[in-house]
Amino acid sequence: MPIIDLRSDTVTKPTEEMFKTMIAAPLGDDVLGDDPTVILLQKETASLLGKEAALFVPSGTMSNQLALKAQTQPGDQIILEDGAHIYRYEGGASAALAGVLNTCIECEGGQITWDDISKSLNPDNVHCAPPSLVCLENTHNTSGGRILCQDHVEEIGSNSHRLGLRVHLDGARLWHTHVVTGISMAELCSPVDTVSVCFSKALGAPVGSVLAGDKGVIERAWRFRKMMGGGMRQAGLLAAACIFALENHIERLEADHRQAKQLATGLDHPAIKVNHPVDTNIVIMDVAGKSASQGNDEALLQHLNDHQIRAMGFGPGRVRLIPNLGTNAEQMDQVLDVLNSFPGEVN
Ligand SMILES: *Cc1c(COP(=O)(O)O)cnc(C)c1O
Repeated sequence: MPIIDLRSDTVTKPTEEMFKTMIAAPLGDDVLGDDPTVILLQKETASLLGKEAALFVPSGTMSNQLALKAQTQPGDQIILEDGAHIYRYEGGASAALAGVLNTCIECEGGQITWDDISKSLNPDNVHCAPPSLVCLENTHNTSGGRILCQDHVEEIGSNSHRLGLRVHLDGARLWHTHVVTGISMAELCSPVDTVSVCFSKALGAPVGSVLAGDKGVIERAWRFRKMMGGGMRQAGLLAAACIFALENHIERLEADHRQAKQLATGLDHPAIKVNHPVDTNIVIMDVAGKSASQGNDEALLQHLNDHQIRAMGFGPGRVRLIPNLGTNAEQMDQVLDVLNSFPGEVN
């Protein structure tokens, strides 16, 4: 039986058609600025996101960190939600590379509001790090792929700008918000100054993210990309996969969302619960109980593994599953059979 890989939506491999467009793509040297396929991807993405300019980069981490670098000074205060990828999972880069003070706010379901932010902004006082940037994440990964309320995003944008703060959106999975809400990508991004999107997540491209914003900020980010070693030569090979993904793999995300809901509603086990609304493609399961030697979360990962199913441990007592381009509804039925027959008990 083939492996069902639900560890992440990054595990997908390029489809045959995607490979074909990669091989056929016209190439140049992007560090010298003449790779036509990279130029096209940047133009198309900027236009889709309603921004002036865009920059192709190797990863979402680099894209987020360039946004920080290009819009802050060392010693500035930035505000983020406590579970934010920028804060949790980027190797401490905001401190190491941008040199900023991270102020994190814990918010239920990742739903950060202007009220939370305004309370945590440092005063204009020589003792304090001056605030300069607010970071949002849509969808919000650690709360289970939750969609940010667009009214909140708009309120955060206008109030931040009124105080001279800039706003960055980690939109690694913003496509999902668009597909579920029907709000255009440009409208979702209009309250923010910069946005990072990932093509190597659910869209199925092998590599690549894009940072979009105004010309000035993208020019600064471009310099920092070179400084950090992110200049890539015949990168059109990769950009072609991203263009293919843009044109062919956005609307199909609905299938991933349906599979995620199928998992959440079909789950029937006293020790395993999904404690969040499944807005998009992420299912985080809380796993209770433990045996003498290990927690039930580890035992569950082992049990899944024994049945050719891969999932990801997501902190103590938590396991994350993400249906993706390589999975289907019948496989989710198989996964449910295996989950519901987990021998672990609540104790
Ligand atoms: C995956 C992810 C990123 C970027 O990750 P890379 O692995 O560096 O591409 C950024 N933000 C969120 C919310 C993510 O899930």
